[in-house]
Amino acid sequence: MSAAKKRIAVERIHKLFQLAQDMIHEDEELAQRYITIARKIAMAVRVHIPKEHRWKICRGCKKFILPGVNCRVRIQHRREPHRVITCGYCGKQMRFPIKEKTKRAYAKNSTQSEEKAKR
Ligand SMILES: [Zn+2]
Repeated sequence: MSAAKKRIAVERIHKLFQLAQDMIHEDEELAQRYITIARKIAMAVRVHIPKEHRWKICRGCKKFILPGVNCRVRIQHRREPHRVITCGYCGKQMRFPIKEKTKRAYAKNSTQSEEKAKR
């Protein structure tokens, strides 16, 4: 598979995620179909789903999930600060570490509660 084809595929995946995001409030089924297509494209040309979109697909049921629509996002400070995303369809929980930069911003607000938790 040529690099150009892969690039076009990635562009299409981006577009499909955008479409799904716009559509999920109106027609959830259609939004889910966009994501199915995006995944199929990714598999066909053997590229990864772009990082910024990866967390929007449930690892359990492979459905499109979006905060405030069909999943729950919680911040956990235990051990490494991380986001916990709970899928609204199958209830699968996914953990994502919070990046250094964001971590510092969170730490500023939560140092107190974290100190308390340690004791
Ligand atoms: Zn799920």
